[in-house]
Amino acid sequence: MTTTNGEFITFDGVHKSFGKNVVLDDLSFSVGEGERVTLIGPSGSGKTTILRMLMTLTRPDRGTIGVDGDYLYHEKRGDQLVPASDGHIRKVRSRITMVFQHFNLFPNMKVLRNVTEAPIHVLGKPKDEAEARGKELLELVGLGDKLDAHPSQLSGGQQQRVAIARALAVDPDVLLLDEVTSALDPELAAEVLDVLRDIAKTTDVTMLLVTHAMKFARDVSHRVLMFNEGRIIEDASPEQLFNEPEHERTKSFLRSVI
Ligand code: ADP
Repeated sequence: MTTTNGEFITFDGVHKSFGKNVVLDDLSFSVGEGERVTLIGPSGSGKTTILRMLMTLTRPDRGTIGVDGDYLYHEKRGDQLVPASDGHIRKVRSRITMVFQHFNLFPNMKVLRNVTEAPIHVLGKPKDEAEARGKELLELVGLGDKLDAHPSQLSGGQQQRVAIARALAVDPDVLLLDEVTSALDPELAAEVLDVLRDIAKTTDVTMLLVTHAMKFARDVSHRVLMFNEGRIIEDASPEQLFNEPEHERTKSFLRSVI
């Protein structure tokens, strides 16, 4: 798989505070198309906030966020943040999906319907086309025999795999994964990570991941960003960052999680 050094996702001078708590401090970085980038760092260092901004769930106080040359947020007049129009945001946002720590499946819908709901009702895909693609994706995540099950009949690992199939069903340009195995027992977490490894190998969707599963991060990432107190303190290949971290804070963080 090839990656570009292009600037597919860009954060430029992004700042976010909650009250007096400065969560992101003049943050700038970019991610190339097809690149898989893992965000690591201590709890509270702003990693999830970054993913939530791309989902337009959290709004920056200042700065510019772009996806493929289109802006989600941008600054035009002095310091005042001028968001893009609602229609524009919807268009950019529709190309980004996120899988959450708690799977958030629709409990009253069968597995296949969970996966086809957005393609049919948001993208307007014909039902048979959406179902064919949904089945393919459920096969891909190892759940081809669970199409008619309800989420409550599945293990946590299986539910999370449905959530991954659902996220892929809209053919996203960007897939965001936020601690997708943190709520799972190790064995179920391993199933989910195996599926994600396969997806990483077989698709070229751009991925931003927040995870504490360091071996997984090492296997699937092209780049790892180490966050501390709202800033990136190290940006390196997984080999470099895990084998020869430069920053003392990275070293102590890795000692605490590996
Ligand atoms: P991480 O993912 O690195 O653990 P987060 O991005 O979740 O960090 O959170 C960064 C900081 O922002 C934390 O101190 C958290 O408590 C705070 N925070 C996040 N969301 C909110 C919110 N909606 N209101 C107040 N504080 C928040």
